[in-house]
Amino acid sequence: MVIDKRNRAFLSIFSFLFVLLRSEWECMNDSELKQRELDRRYLRMAQIWAENSYCKRRQVGALIVKDKMIISDGYNGTPGGFENICEDENGLTKSYVLHAEANAITKIARSNNNSQQATLYVTASPCIECAKLIIQSGIKRVVYAEKYRLTEGVELLERADIEVVYIDKEELI
Ligand SMILES: [Zn+2]
Repeated sequence: MVIDKRNRAFLSIFSFLFVLLRSEWECMNDSELKQRELDRRYLRMAQIWAENSYCKRRQVGALIVKDKMIISDGYNGTPGGFENICEDENGLTKSYVLHAEANAITKIARSNNNSQQATLYVTASPCIECAKLIIQSGIKRVVYAEKYRLTEGVELLERADIEVVYIDKEELI
């Protein structure tokens, strides 16, 4: 009888723990799903923002989000005051064209905000030059949609402990 009681007590403790762990797991899963949905939406917005670019070869858009607020945006293009033409007479991208990420980050430098702990959404995987800027700006998360043949930018971000999330373009439709 005593053993029975003890067994029953154990059983109820175990089932209680099981329910507790399961609800914890489901809860975590739920917040992960919500984050994925948010990531998709912001990335779609970055895709729309890319349409602002007057570059012909490639249009890239970026958004910087902090505390659920869009604190900056950018697209690839020439610096302010320069003519809005990205390509030279041979159709090659001019050396002084800024990438979308660089434009979004430098825009914050002119504002009262800062990018510490922010998330960067960009429609294409960051190059090595932008990766350096991302690291130095304190951005902690990068979500991107299009992979590039060169992966050194993403690799550098990962080395700097920045969370890098890839979402396939197909998932954004
Ligand atoms: Zn770049």
